[in-house]
Amino acid sequence: MAETREFKTEVRQLLDLMIHSLYSNRDIFLRELVANAADAIDKARFESLTATDKTRDWQIRIVPDKKAMTLTVSDNGIGMTRDEVIENIGTIAKSGTKAFLKALEEKGENKDMPELIGQFGVGFYSAFMVAEKVDIITRKDADDAKAVRWSSAGLGEYELDDAEKSTPGTDIVLHMRKDSEMYLESWKIGEIIRRYSDFIEYPIITPEVKVNDDKTETVTDRTLNSQKAIWLRKASEITEDEYKSFFMHVSNAGGEYLKAIHMSAEGASEFKALLFLPKHAPFNFLMPDLQKRGLQLYVKRVFITDECKELLPDYLRFVTGVVDSNDLPLNVSREILQQNPQLEKINKAVASRIISELKKMLETERDAYTDFYKEFGKVLKEGIHTDFANVEKLKDLALYESMNTEAGKMITLAEYVAAMPDDQKEIYFITGDKRESVASSPALEYFRSKGYDVLFMTDLIDDWIMQSMFQYAKKNFKSVDKGDFAVDGAADVLKAAQEKFSGLIEFLKSALGDKVSEVRFSARLTDSPCCLITEGNAMSPHLERLFKAMHQDIPESKRILELNAKHPLVEAMFKLVERDAKAPELATYAKVLFDQALLAEGSPVADAAAFAKEITSLLLSAVNGKEK
Ligand code: ADP
Repeated sequence: MAETREFKTEVRQLLDLMIHSLYSNRDIFLRELVANAADAIDKARFESLTATDKTRDWQIRIVPDKKAMTLTVSDNGIGMTRDEVIENIGTIAKSGTKAFLKALEEKGENKDMPELIGQFGVGFYSAFMVAEKVDIITRKDADDAKAVRWSSAGLGEYELDDAEKSTPGTDIVLHMRKDSEMYLESWKIGEIIRRYSDFIEYPIITPEVKVNDDKTETVTDRTLNSQKAIWLRKASEITEDEYKSFFMHVSNAGGEYLKAIHMSAEGASEFKALLFLPKHAPFNFLMPDLQKRGLQLYVKRVFITDECKELLPDYLRFVTGVVDSNDLPLNVSREILQQNPQLEKINKAVASRIISELKKMLETERDAYTDFYKEFGKVLKEGIHTDFANVEKLKDLALYESMNTEAGKMITLAEYVAAMPDDQKEIYFITGDKRESVASSPALEYFRSKGYDVLFMTDLIDDWIMQSMFQYAKKNFKSVDKGDFAVDGAADVLKAAQEKFSGLIEFLKSALGDKVSEVRFSARLTDSPCCLITEGNAMSPHLERLFKAMHQDIPESKRILELNAKHPLVEAMFKLVERDAKAPELATYAKVLFDQALLAEGSPVADAAAFAKEITSLLLSAVNGKEK
C-alpha cells in the first residue's frame, strides 16, 4: 500500500539543516549508517542466541554505483516493520531531536554539527548531507514479515510502499548529490571505514572491481575493517583516532574523552574492559530519563547488551566503555543479568579501578582532575553516601572551595586538615547554593578571626552527603551555622552577657514571637550584631529554600537568633528596652534586625516590600538626625 506522510516539525527542521549544511567534513554520514547497521545486526544476533536457525553470515555491505550515482549500505540485521519505520525515521523517535536542534541553535554555527549528531542520536538524517534522495528498503527479521520501502528527498514528506526483499535486513540507498560524488570512490569509502569503524566486529565489505588482461572485469569482495575488538588489543598499539572513534561508539556522547582505561582481570572473574572517563558531561547528564547509563556487555566477544547498569555503581554513571566477560553464558537474558554474582564482581573491580585512576590523576594531574571534578564531582560524591566499601577513598577524592581559596580553586579534605592550626579540633563547613552567598555569611566571622578555614559546600547534594560524612582523618565535621557552638573560655563571658542583657532577650523573644525558637548570646560573631542558627538536627536553611522553591510542603523550622555581646547595636537597643520596652519603634527595630539576618545568610525575607518601607523610615530618621 502506497502512502505519503509528513515529517514531524522537528524532523523537518533537522533535515533542512542537513541539506543546507556547509560543514566540510561530511564523512561522518557513513560512520552513522554503518553504526546503525551494526546495531541492527547486534539485535538480530542477540535474538539468534536464543532462537535456533537464525544464524547467518552477519555482514555490512557498502556498494557504490557510479553510473546510477548511488551508494547503498546494507545489513542483514533486525530490519524494521512498516510501523517501526514510521516510528523511527519519520517522527522524533527520541527527545534527542529536539535537544539537538536546541543545542545547535545555542552554538549558533553548524560547524559543531558532526559532533552533535553523534551526541544526540540523529545519525540517520546525516545521510541528507550527501544525498538528494534516500530510499530505505527493509524487512523485519521475523517469519511472516513484509518488506517496505521508505523514500524521501528530505523535503517535508516521505513515501511508504510495499517492497520486494527476500532476506531480512535493511538497504539504505543514497542518491548522491553532485557535490558528493567522491563518496562513490572505493578509496574514500575504505578511508572512512578504517578511520571510524575499524573495530566494528562484523565485516564491512565492498566489491572491488579488477580489470583483467583480457579486458574482462572480476568483482571480488574486500573487507575494509580489521574487526579487532579494540579492548582486546594492547594499549600501545591503539591510536588516538581509534580511541576517539571507539569512545564515540560506546558513549553516544561525542566530544572528547579524558582517560582511556584498560582492564584485564584474571582469576575468580575473567574479563577485559576498556573504560572511558569523558571530558564533559553530555547534554542529558542531569536528565535521568534520557541519560545513558552503564557499560556495554560482551561475552566472549559477542555483543550482549548496551547500557548494562549492573556493571557500574550508580555514582560512576559518567563512565562509559565495554566489558567483555569470559565467565557468563552466551545466552544470558536481561533477567539473568540483574542479580548475577559475576556481574557484581566485575562491578566491584571496575569501581575500585576507576577510583584508583582518579586518585592517581588527583596526585599527578591536579588541573585536569579539578576540571573533571567540576563536571562530575556532584555524581562521584554520591558514593560517599552509598558505597560503604569505598567511602574513605571517595572522601579523599572530594574537592571543595573554602573561605581561604580563591573562587574556582578547590582543596581536598587532606589539604584542609594539613592546614589546620594546632588549636583547631574540627573540620568546619557551611552549605549554601553558591560561593557568593556563603562567603558573606556572618556565621564565618569567628572562624576568620581565629584563622580557621571553612569549607564551602555549594552542591545541591552536599546537605545529603554530610549526613553520612561524620569524620575525616579522625576529625569531626561541624556546620558553622548549626547547633551549639562552644569556644574555650567564652562560656563565662556569654553567661555574663546573657544576664546583663536579659531584658533585651526577653523583649526580642516576645517581639519576634513564632519566628524564633530561642534568642541567646554567642561567640560565633565578631563583626555582625546577630545571625540565625539552625537546631543541630534541623534542615539547613539552604535545603529549606530548595524545597520551598520546588513548592514542597515542609514544616518551617524555627531559627535561633544569636546576638553579639560586643556589638554597639546590642548595647544601644538594650538601653532603649530598659527605658521603655513598649516604645513602638522598638518592635520595628526587632523586625528589621531579624530580616537583615535572613538576608545576610542568603535567605529571602518574608515581606520584602514591608522591609523596604521600614528601611526607608529608618534612613529618614538617620538623615534627619544628621541634619540637626
Ligand atoms: P540512533 O541510531 O542514534 O537511534 P538514528 O536517527 O540514526 O538514531 O536512527 C533512528 C532509528 O532508526 C534507530 O534507533 C533504529 O531503530 C532505526 N534504524 C536506523 N537504521 C537502521 C537499520 N539499518 N536497521 C534497523 N533499524 C534501523
